[in-house]
Amino acid sequence: MKTEDITTIQKLLMSWYLKHHRKLPWRETTNPYHIWVSEVMLQQTQVKTVIPYYKKFLASFPDIQSLANTDIQLVLKRWEGLGYYARARNLHRAAMIVLNDHNGIIPEKYADFRKLPGVGDYIAAAVLSFAFGCPHPVVDGNVKRVLARLCLISQPTNKPASYPIFKTIAGKLLDMKNPGNFNQAVMELGALICKPKNPNCDTCPLQRFCMASQAGSVEEYPKRIKSKPIPQHHIAVGIVLKNDKILITRRKIDGLLGGLWEFPGGEVKPYETPEAACIREIKEEVNLEVGIDSFVKRIKHAYTHFKIVMDVFICCFVSGRIHLSGPEDFKWIKISEMDRFPFPKSNHKIFPHLLKSINQASRK
Ligand code: SF4
Repeated sequence: MKTEDITTIQKLLMSWYLKHHRKLPWRETTNPYHIWVSEVMLQQTQVKTVIPYYKKFLASFPDIQSLANTDIQLVLKRWEGLGYYARARNLHRAAMIVLNDHNGIIPEKYADFRKLPGVGDYIAAAVLSFAFGCPHPVVDGNVKRVLARLCLISQPTNKPASYPIFKTIAGKLLDMKNPGNFNQAVMELGALICKPKNPNCDTCPLQRFCMASQAGSVEEYPKRIKSKPIPQHHIAVGIVLKNDKILITRRKIDGLLGGLWEFPGGEVKPYETPEAACIREIKEEVNLEVGIDSFVKRIKHAYTHFKIVMDVFICCFVSGRIHLSGPEDFKWIKISEMDRFPFPKSNHKIFPHLLKSINQASRK
């Protein structure tokens, strides 16, 4: 692309952005910590979902010191329902490192910031360009889609090997005078105009430079490799009742849903009934003998890479002393205390059905 075309693209995009961008809370600040929180939350999550979480999180942890000095359980509680909990754990760990190793000041140097837990190329470029105006191009899904159409890039956007190609082109287009706003402008164009389906090319400021639009092949871009079908797992979990209390266990801090609380249970093996799986899993996880009292509900939930079908049972305690194998902690709590603990979304889907089932079981 010619230099004068790049300059025109920058001007057109910036003036479109200044007129049309959405007013979002993290765009009204240059506080790097606030921008960092927003970018972590926005990974894999829609803007309208993030806004209330962002406000609630910053009300609880307004600065890096307050986040670093908080127990991870409270951080997870504030993150509860947003999913991808590794993001919250990494942000918390990173805040502690910033406090201890950088005097509580977020490093402006790319290599230093990029080293922090959970900070990948995207987060580093986004936070440093938005907050400090550092000249790093951002490359996310929206940017890749815009660039693939604008420059007819045939490399699949969801293939890791394509990333350097998109980054190089994003870097060539970047407006060095205002990299933060330029990055936001490309992302915003992807979110509002150059959408995955039915892009609004007629209102696009870049239409006359867009190679896909000129070639009439907008619908063919971006290219993607077919992803594998999402597997489904059948899970059985038990609400174990003992003296008006129920048993909850905490998952190990690292790994999927790490540090969250849940009801014990696990995968139903082939040729095993969900009831038998529930009894077996509880024995294996916490060493308790339980019996099935009643069936509560079948819950369906989708994660990014798999789906679960979860059969939930009320279980009565029969015998045994708790010995953990798998979870890292347990508690016997009253149902009214559940609000104090962070649970995964799939477990939240159980809550509305619990009270009635527990009351019925307690009356037996
Ligand atoms: Fe996207 Fe259409 Fe604009 Fe090209 S003209 S960048 S395809 S919205």
